[in-house]
Order: sequence, then C-alpha cells, then structure tokens
Amino acid sequence: MNGTMDYFYAPPERIDGRYVVIEGDELSHLAHVMRKKAGDRIMVVDGTGCAYDVVLETVTKRSARGIVRESYRRYHEPEPNVTLAVGILKNPSKFDFLVEKATEIGVIGIIPMRTERTIPSHAKTDRWQKLALSAMKQCGRSSLPKVGELTSLEEVLRTGGSYRRTFVAHVDADHPAFGDKPILAGADSTLILVGPEGGFSEDEISRCAAAGFEPLSLGERRLRTETAAIALTILECRR
Ligand code: SAH
Repeated sequence: MNGTMDYFYAPPERIDGRYVVIEGDELSHLAHVMRKKAGDRIMVVDGTGCAYDVVLETVTKRSARGIVRESYRRYHEPEPNVTLAVGILKNPSKFDFLVEKATEIGVIGIIPMRTERTIPSHAKTDRWQKLALSAMKQCGRSSLPKVGELTSLEEVLRTGGSYRRTFVAHVDADHPAFGDKPILAGADSTLILVGPEGGFSEDEISRCAAAGFEPLSLGERRLRTETAAIALTILECRR
C-alpha cells in the first residue's frame, strides 16, 4: 500500500489487535527523529509478517500508544522463503551491504558461514541483525530476517533437510544457468549457499552435492560474493 508511510517496529507482544505500544529505541526514533504526534498515522510492522495501519493516540516519554485501524498478514512479503548462507567476508562492510540488500529484496534468513577459504574472524551477528531491522522498516516489509551465528559449512549442510530446495552457487560453465531451472510454484523454502571471496573448494562442492545441494550457476563470469548473493536473491524472491 502507501509507499510514503513511515514504518515503525513493535514486537508481537506489544500488539493486541486493537492497540499497539511502541517503546525503547523505537519510541525515540518515532518521537524525536520522526517527530510523530498524537493523531499521526503510521504503519507498524511486527517482524513476523504482520503490519498494522495505526493512528497514534498518545506519545509520552515512556511509550507511544496507537489504535489499529487495519491489520495485514504477509505484508509486502515475497511468496518464496529464501535463506542465504554466505561465507563471511574479509571486509565486514561488504557483509553489511549484503545484509541490507538481501533484506530489502526479501530473504527470511541470513547465515554467516565459515568455510575452508574464509578468513578466521567473528560474525557480527548483533550488528547485522540490527541492520536487518532497519532495512525491514525502511523498505516497508513486515518479516524480520533472522541473522544466524557464525556456522560451519558442515553444520549448514546438516540443516539441508529442513528446506524444500537446496542450492550451492558455483561458477561453472558445465552447469546450466539459473534461468533454465524449472520454476516451482508456491512458497516453498529455499536455501542457497554462496562462497566467500576465495570460493568453495572442489572438496566442499562435492560434499554439498553429497548432501543433496544442487549446483547453481549465474553464468561464466566470476561475481563477487555479495553480487552473487544479491543476484540470486532477486531471481528467487521474484518467482
Ligand atoms: N575464486 C573463486 C571465486 C569465488 S566468487 C572461484 O573461482 O570459485 C564467490 C562466490 O560467489 C562463489 O563461491 C559462488 O558461490 C558465488 N559466485 C560467483 N560467481 C558466480 C556465478 N557466476 N554463478 C554462481 N555463483 C557465483
């Protein structure tokens, strides 16, 4: 709906169907940055796919309360449930970029992944989760993608069974380009693995294949990790 509406976040436990309460950081954003007042109309998203068209009734130092005019489910969410597992990058700001863009385009999960060729480092899960929250509000979607803790490729492969389709992105001229894959209907869940700067080793690619992950190629050009992740998200989320 309204592309110009301002979006705010409240967790489901602060929304009872009739009233919404906004507190904490979100309150200071609403009252001080966005200067919202009683009588203003806003959209509230709850991070689980619900959105509410709200008119503010009171805005105090402790909380803002609004009355729900209308509620929506799966608000501005794509049909497919896409999760990305991506090799962490040497430059953390590139992963910041990836988290923001993948959230805007519509992923429901991002798993920072450790592989043979990742440089040992820490995942900034809390920071990325916050980036996902602000990207969710900024673009007006209603599901907050979950950013996982740093997970090894082995562990990610073990979770493959909980997705309907699992892919590993790999530059390989022998595999058909993504556009040739049959398009499956509905909101089936997809997990896509994307390698770090150095890519996956051949051994990792065979282990992915053994775990039932299908190779997925975007063609012959070798893309940067974040480019491949974003391109694949666009292709998957618009189905
Ligand atoms: N030197 C590495 C390049 C890695 S690029 C190599 O030769 O493998 C980083 C990651 O982005 C890759 O591991 C892959 O997951 C993804 N990627 C890059 N280009 C791609 C393409 N054309 N198709 C599919 N995935 C690609």
